[in-house]
Amino acid sequence: MTKHIYITGGVVSSLGKGLTSASIGFLLESMGLRVAMQKFDPYINVDPGTMNPYQHGEVYVTEDGLEADLDLGHYERFTHALINLHSNYTTGKIYSAVIEKERRGDYLGQTVQVIPHITNEIKEAARRIESPDIDVAITEIGGTVGDIESLPYLEAARQYQLDQGRENVMYIHLSLVPYLRASHEIKTKPTQQSVAKLREIGVIPDVLICRTEVPLSEDIRAKLSLFCNVPKEAVLEEKDVDFSIYEIPLMLADQKLDELIVRRLNLACKRPDLTRWKQMLEQIKHPDREVTIAIVGKYLELQDAYKSIYESLAHAGIANRCRVNVKKVPAEDVEKVGLQRFMAGVSGVLVPGGFGKRGIEGKVRAAQFARENGVPYFGLCLGMQIAVIEFARNVLGLQGAHSTEFEPDAPHPVITLMEEQKRVTRLGATMRLGSYPCRVKTGTRAHRAYKSEAVSERHRHRFEFNNVYRAQFEGRGGVCSGVWPEGDLVEIFEVAGHPWYVGVQFHPEFKSKPTAPHPLFRDFIGACLEVSNPKSAAPDSVEESVRPFIGSSVHSFRKQDAGTGLSNG
Ligand code: GLN
Repeated sequence: MTKHIYITGGVVSSLGKGLTSASIGFLLESMGLRVAMQKFDPYINVDPGTMNPYQHGEVYVTEDGLEADLDLGHYERFTHALINLHSNYTTGKIYSAVIEKERRGDYLGQTVQVIPHITNEIKEAARRIESPDIDVAITEIGGTVGDIESLPYLEAARQYQLDQGRENVMYIHLSLVPYLRASHEIKTKPTQQSVAKLREIGVIPDVLICRTEVPLSEDIRAKLSLFCNVPKEAVLEEKDVDFSIYEIPLMLADQKLDELIVRRLNLACKRPDLTRWKQMLEQIKHPDREVTIAIVGKYLELQDAYKSIYESLAHAGIANRCRVNVKKVPAEDVEKVGLQRFMAGVSGVLVPGGFGKRGIEGKVRAAQFARENGVPYFGLCLGMQIAVIEFARNVLGLQGAHSTEFEPDAPHPVITLMEEQKRVTRLGATMRLGSYPCRVKTGTRAHRAYKSEAVSERHRHRFEFNNVYRAQFEGRGGVCSGVWPEGDLVEIFEVAGHPWYVGVQFHPEFKSKPTAPHPLFRDFIGACLEVSNPKSAAPDSVEESVRPFIGSSVHSFRKQDAGTGLSNG
């Protein structure tokens, strides 16, 4: 029988509940247990796919094509749990299922109510991640205790223990214990109140994890234990981490969270083996070198919008034993003042995925700069489409080449809508989503990275490389190095002869782990290091590293930027 852990959050949102849940999953796996993970999101959208990045941050994509909460990314980076369609339920998804059943007549004339119908649907969703192959299922309940919209989930979690037995279900509550700098005091009241709120619903936490800036004294632990009705040894602290989020599991293991869970759920398992994780952390803490890359994008002020990309870059740093610094370059600023002023000390350019016209020309400028100056370029989804548009305009000379997403009547629609997409009228879950196989051409940068001709990667987009132009691209040094065989769609585009210029129509950032960095991110950072390393073959100044093969040059870049009134030197 699968045991179940529910993780709740109190006082404020953004406490790092997803990271804590993932860390708990990791700890259990390190003891040889098989883990499943899931997130409940109390908002009414059916999935986050239609929400903008300001609302939701990154939209994560699973293998089977669910557009999901970004916490699932943490689960995949920390654990080997199978993440799929059942790993994320929202209130919209739960209610849709209930309403569908009601319309079918499944409720046999009953009045359909929050309790028991909605709560039953929630419990069914929780049960879907249990199986004979899973020892412990972890369900993180999004939102904060006390929110009206979280109530049905907490009620379902309470009922779950009643249904399954106390020995099979436990609750872990993550809360904020604020430190008041002015009075040098740690305050326990908000946590007391959030636990009181939980207990009012009937959920009695077994473990209290306190997010705190400063260490908790014995007195504070005793006080929290007394007021929250949690044994003192089960009051843990989770301090802000110094170096890396990957320290969190070790911090929790130091306080014996693993033992608490094993005892509480009566699990048979070995002691945790944290050796490999500790080695990985050592590499993060002691990099040999550092490298700076520019991300030319739109949502750079939001830490969450490109979450998996930042993580994947950190993983590539681990693989290359270097620290990766990110310079955030707003694409619209590039449009206004050119790129050059942002490029000091930068060894590579990354253009992430995105939607909508804002900032597009700035990104095209960045792709051109990288191509003409031998600066490593990595384009992700939209970033690949940008590379294609830039190449079409400036190498093939196709004036006005564009994506029909931004210019429906472009004279050269080098990126265009797929036939199936032309008939789509609804927005939700209608993109090309999830994992598709890709055949990688030998002798390319992509093949050098993957060391395989058959790979599969996750997608989330509507527009594609227009095959009408493929021969023209390939005739002038463009390389379609990855193709989805069944649909004959170009998945990877490279520029021949360039140190490292790769655009991918998919999202490799969803498949990178700290212990298994994604090969494309690894090689991108590897190439950036070569460029920035004065001892390597690459010239040390960006301006000198012109690759003349493509017929364009730094000179043309300067011409283009002239008129901004800026010195490009
Ligand atoms: N907007 C582009 C498309 O729909 C790219 C999407 C993305 O970058 N995820 O094809």
